[in-house]
Amino acid sequence: MGAAETESATAFSAKRTAGEPTPTRLRTIDDLDLAGRRVLLRADLNVPLKDGRVADDARILASLPTIEELRHRGCAIVLVSHLGRPHGVDAALSLRPVAERLRQLTDAPVTLAPAVVGDDVQRLAEGLRPGEILLLENVRFEPGETTNDSRLADSLAALADYYVNDAFGAAHRAHASTVGTADRLPSAAGRLMEREVGALSAILEHPARPLVAVLGGAKVADKIGVVRRFLEIADSVLVGGAMAFPFLAAEGHRTGASRHASEDVAIAASVLGASHAERLELPDDLVVAQSASADASRQTLESVDVPDGWLGLDIGPHTAERYAERIAGAGSVFWNGPMGVFEIGPFAAGTGAVAEAVAASAAITVVGGGETVSAVRRLGLERRVDHVSTGGGATLELLEGRILPGVEVLAQ
Ligand code: ADP
Ligand code: MG
Repeated sequence: MGAAETESATAFSAKRTAGEPTPTRLRTIDDLDLAGRRVLLRADLNVPLKDGRVADDARILASLPTIEELRHRGCAIVLVSHLGRPHGVDAALSLRPVAERLRQLTDAPVTLAPAVVGDDVQRLAEGLRPGEILLLENVRFEPGETTNDSRLADSLAALADYYVNDAFGAAHRAHASTVGTADRLPSAAGRLMEREVGALSAILEHPARPLVAVLGGAKVADKIGVVRRFLEIADSVLVGGAMAFPFLAAEGHRTGASRHASEDVAIAASVLGASHAERLELPDDLVVAQSASADASRQTLESVDVPDGWLGLDIGPHTAERYAERIAGAGSVFWNGPMGVFEIGPFAAGTGAVAEAVAASAAITVVGGGETVSAVRRLGLERRVDHVSTGGGATLELLEGRILPGVEVLAQ
């Protein structure tokens, strides 16, 4: 491997300062002479399971283009992914259901390895023929995965000649299968990784103007870094969902029983006091109810002062219309976070209006976030968005300007 390469990669990372954007020029599979070779492919196959089956195969589908391209180039593929957060070997988090779904989606023979690494796995890898796939067991069955243990990374790297990382959703973690293996083998980004980093970096570095960011959802503390970043680079930042309440509270409005943590109000106040705060737009009307259920009494408030005992569960129709107009007039749009509790019919209108506006807009549109993407999908609008990001935490960290270790090791 060795140690020297690992050290130099670490030294290189350390030279970069936080806040500097993740590099956009990645080595890609066009840069490697892969024909007929064995490739260790890290994918993000961390799919939801139900009754022992894959409940949503979106991540498997997103990984297929790289899998098929490598197969067409005569590669044998050793596929590696995590699934959930097992503590040691856990049959309930085996990749068996993923192997079954993969067999239905590709013509390739797919073998599920009995473990992550070891003599049996090594033999299976060495016996692979061009076009065949060996799916390793859940890499987090090995405790060395999340600590980027050098022995595990050595064993993984011994399974192949080349390393390709397509797991953008795991790129914010410096694990054995994301960073350790990249340090040990000639490595490159897969097509999904390339597309994710390309689409998100384009928004950050040379967006068509005006750049409009729509930010909502519930995880305010996790997303405040993204709010700050977009206030610097965007022309407007439209805030909805539970994220609006700390800001409204900081402006002195009553928030009733609306969901927000008191520490978020102080953070929101500091954002409102910083430069470019005028770019931030907040709701001016709200849908409120006495509880978050479809049959609770509810009303549309023409203000943002929530009465005691009521909670704000959606942006109001006037705000939805204003946000939709901004989106219609944008050159680029980034959207993360629902505008309300869209899972419950009476509070879904604001999210629906934003989704429709994003789909209809002539702007370059990028949508990210687990619930946001599921809202867009539910409305059947996914194909009308230019880029649907598959990364949760990784997408937010990249936009915030943090260094993603899994991307950093693939930089040119
Ligand atoms: P994403 O997964 O798209 O990044 P988050 O995880 O931050 O989004 O938040 C999504 C959740 O936020 C949704 O389940 C939605 O019900 C919730 N939410 C949105 N607006 C509100 C609100 N006003 N009050 C409570 N929860 C809300
Ligand atoms: Mg979420």
